[in-house]
Amino acid sequence: MTSTIESIVIIGAGQASGHACKTLRSEGYEGRLTVIADEPHDFYERPPLSKGVIVDQEPLPRLFPDDSQAALNIDWRRPCRATEIHRDAREVELNDGSRLVYDRLLIATGSRPRLPTNAWAKIDNVLTLRSWDDATRLRQRLSTSRRVGIIGGGWIGLEIASSARKLGIEVDVFERAASLCGRSIGPEVAEYIQALHLRNGVGLRLARQDIQLDGDSDGRVCLSADGQTQPPYDCVVVGVGVDINLELARAAGLDTAQGIVIDAAGRTSDPAVFAAGDVSQHPHLGLCLQSWAYAQNQAQVAARAMLGQDAHYDEPAWLWSDQHGVNIQILGIPRGETRCVQRSDPQGPVFFYLDADDRLVQMVAFDQPRAIKLGKRWLAASRELDAKALANPDFNLMQLR
Ligand SMILES: Cc1cc2nc3c(=O)[nH]c(=O)nc-3n(C[C@H](O)[C@H](O)[C@H](O)COP(=O)(O)OP(=O)(O)OC[C@H]3O[C@@H](n4cnc5c(N)ncnc54)[C@H](O)[C@@H]3O)c2cc1C
Repeated sequence: MTSTIESIVIIGAGQASGHACKTLRSEGYEGRLTVIADEPHDFYERPPLSKGVIVDQEPLPRLFPDDSQAALNIDWRRPCRATEIHRDAREVELNDGSRLVYDRLLIATGSRPRLPTNAWAKIDNVLTLRSWDDATRLRQRLSTSRRVGIIGGGWIGLEIASSARKLGIEVDVFERAASLCGRSIGPEVAEYIQALHLRNGVGLRLARQDIQLDGDSDGRVCLSADGQTQPPYDCVVVGVGVDINLELARAAGLDTAQGIVIDAAGRTSDPAVFAAGDVSQHPHLGLCLQSWAYAQNQAQVAARAMLGQDAHYDEPAWLWSDQHGVNIQILGIPRGETRCVQRSDPQGPVFFYLDADDRLVQMVAFDQPRAIKLGKRWLAASRELDAKALANPDFNLMQLR
């Protein structure tokens, strides 16, 4: 099959694209590999942008060193945007009017920060964080800020809050819901994270609706929530979720739902077109995960499948966050009726969510990466667990290996 494929085109140059390229070459693909990228940078990963990049001035978190990237022998089209996919002709059109022919196409266009209203985009120092350029802007603004407002109490907002506190900046987080990260974790975990932020001096303004923003003549941002005006912020960062970059796929008539619909091999409704990373809808969970591990590992699977190999993605959802020096790892997503079992180890708590048959649905561990490794095995084996043992800090979880 490999010999019949002479041209692979990838749209996007993020985490998923980079790992797809690496896999294609390591699996022996020697044909033309073209990457269309609207950012001018080499492949880089995004998790450090909300952490070390803004706190410690870390450099561009490149996926590969120079020599490894050069060895991928990529025909770069950057900065350049793919504007249309002509599936009948198997061509991608670019914003310079040129067209690229593909035998296999990978759509890895990711997602972009959502703004509740376009008017906010026009206010100076109302910022979002997705790209290296966004992080550079945010870092610059934070370096002269005393007060920062954050809209959205999800993972990105909370990580920025934590980073800003490390820089000694006063931070308020405004969240519409009554708890933090409500879509991805249970109330017990949300409460623990809330306490972590309060202990570290973050002002949490929960259940705040009707947020209005306006700029003042000094470049500061005036924020009011539920009609109450706050003292102005030096900047406001909006982290209220993302819009999936689905437009190209939709216009090309591919099946889409929350994201591009794919099977476990990453194949879309067109057998010559694959999708990977944030833009693809998880083949089993029916949602877009937006996780570093998914973007990397599912893209590797899609790359192998593009070469005609028998490849399937079947990993559980896993993502992590670092806040106030604490590593938070989340395995699985909330699903159905569960009960929460909490374990309080000295290094940090673990929250297990079990279904009616005492099988693990989700677990969230604070500074306990080894517990998560065990959880991955339990999930894979659909193992029945003893809630009492899990909750007992004197019981060594390794016994359940
Ligand atoms: C600040 C931040 C912190 C994060 N922290 C964590 C974390 O701690 N843990 C975790 O698990 N996950 C984290 N994530 C999520 C993780 O980084 C993403 O899930 C991952 O980057 C998705 O990779 P991707 O390749 O699908 O998309 P992206 O990395 O977004 O890459 C897509 C690329 O395609 C480009 N593109 C889009 N449309 C076009 C077009 N038409 N033509 C050309 N190019 C196009 C985009 O500009 C972008 O460069 C974080 C994300 C952000 C933004």
